[in-house]
Amino acid sequence: MKRCVRFFCAFIAVLAPNQLANSQAAEKVDLEAITRIRYEGFHDSKVMELASGLMDSIGERLTGSPNMKRANEWTRDQFTAMGLSNAHLEAWGPFGRGWANQYVNARMTSPDVTPLIAYAKAWTPGTSGVVSGSCIRASIEDKKDFDKYRGKLAGKIVIFGSDAEVKPIVESPYKRLAEDDLSKIGEYQIPGERAPFRMSEMLRRRQFTRDLNQFFAEEKVLAVIDHSRGSAGGGTVFVQSGGSYKPGETTTVPQLTMASEQWNRIARLLDQKKEVTLELSVTNTFYDDDLMQYDTLAEIPGTDKKDEIVMLGAHLDSWHAGTGATDNGAGSVVMMEAVRILKALDKDFGIKPRRTIRIGLWSGEEEGLLGSQGYVEQHFGARPRMDDPAMKDMPTLLRREAGDVKLKPEQAKISAYFNVDNGTGKIRGLYLQENEAVAPIFQEWMKPFRDLGMATLTMRNTGGTDHLSFDAVGIPGFQFIQDPIEYETRTHHSNMDVYDRLQADDLKQMAVIVASFVYDAAMRDQMLPRKPVEKALPKESP
Ligand SMILES: [Zn+2]
Repeated sequence: MKRCVRFFCAFIAVLAPNQLANSQAAEKVDLEAITRIRYEGFHDSKVMELASGLMDSIGERLTGSPNMKRANEWTRDQFTAMGLSNAHLEAWGPFGRGWANQYVNARMTSPDVTPLIAYAKAWTPGTSGVVSGSCIRASIEDKKDFDKYRGKLAGKIVIFGSDAEVKPIVESPYKRLAEDDLSKIGEYQIPGERAPFRMSEMLRRRQFTRDLNQFFAEEKVLAVIDHSRGSAGGGTVFVQSGGSYKPGETTTVPQLTMASEQWNRIARLLDQKKEVTLELSVTNTFYDDDLMQYDTLAEIPGTDKKDEIVMLGAHLDSWHAGTGATDNGAGSVVMMEAVRILKALDKDFGIKPRRTIRIGLWSGEEEGLLGSQGYVEQHFGARPRMDDPAMKDMPTLLRREAGDVKLKPEQAKISAYFNVDNGTGKIRGLYLQENEAVAPIFQEWMKPFRDLGMATLTMRNTGGTDHLSFDAVGIPGFQFIQDPIEYETRTHHSNMDVYDRLQADDLKQMAVIVASFVYDAAMRDQMLPRKPVEKALPKESP
């Protein structure tokens, strides 16, 4: 009898939440369509072909580089070949100068002769042919430190920065999110009233970089070499920019980033007062023919609700030392594969979306979400410009102090924007971006993917990528929760961000889930519920 009662209670306990969910869930999911999306995405995937096209045939895609333009044109032509409509490029800007590296050779010539692993920093000039010079160590944290080095650097190669920490890799650089990681992400954290970074701090750092480059130029330094970030080393070099892409602000001193272990060898020899000479040859080119940049757009036209739009997107640009595979070739090819799958459903089964589906592949993300900001400003709305010259090129989401967002009519027609930009790891859930009203909807949409590891919704905001541009003007914009794999530890902005670090099964899983969410959003009777646009902020006190 006792056993029976317990069984009965357990039965109630299991049944009750389900019944509750069913009574609320007017949310329909077309499982037949989801089955077809899964089949197309898992049995006839083209995602790795797209990945090789983008990463192997085109390569790095620094905003403003000839490769970026090639990638814009290639993705546009791929969309046309897939049968999408209205594939085209849209300009934003002006951005600034284009830049690409063509050649780097760095070697030690004394006290030993040996080749070195080094990469040019973006938007810095090359050397005039092969140059040789002796090295000098400099660590400058502040303008006050300039005096220590004034008059000592002319004609020298500056080994720049504080000591590089190199440690053995003890923890696996590879990680999937475990249950307790996911439950932590699921817990909401009450945010501060302002973003954790301060605008004044960002502007101060930007000014310091300018002053530092100016100092090196005045001191007639031959070249500056810093070291990769992080302590993992092992030939992985994290490289970004060394100067401004704005016309008239170009730095005149060549700059390289070197593998930490080799940089440390030079630093140790200099500490021992030994003479170290290097030979450098770097060829970089600036491109000034077109200061504008471009996003790639294409559509699958809707039917009875074709005036309303569901958007998906990712940034197509990258840093230059690798081929931008996980950041963010992965997101780009996942989104391309998602629209290919949706188009295949139309071709094979005549399944057409009710709303128009529009894909956007953005440039300028690495320089501050500029491509998606440009697109959103032209189509959906923006905050007023700021007068302060240091602030006037700040995107809408960084200028809440400028006043309220002014919306354009098209903003009312966008149901949602979905973004992928957290590397090659599969989708584990979704950030609701503090929009509680979408939670029960996404809960239902997510159910067919529990067997693929997607089961977490969190009210948290996640930052750092293009969904913020949409969120900033009141369009429901979402970024998925993804397994990190080797993102922070190896690939993110490094020379090893290449095709081989992509995980094919993860990319397939992502494309299937994105295609399904986009499909669900396109078929739903109503557009997705919205949250209010963020209010303007009072000016930050300096
Ligand atoms: Zn990035």
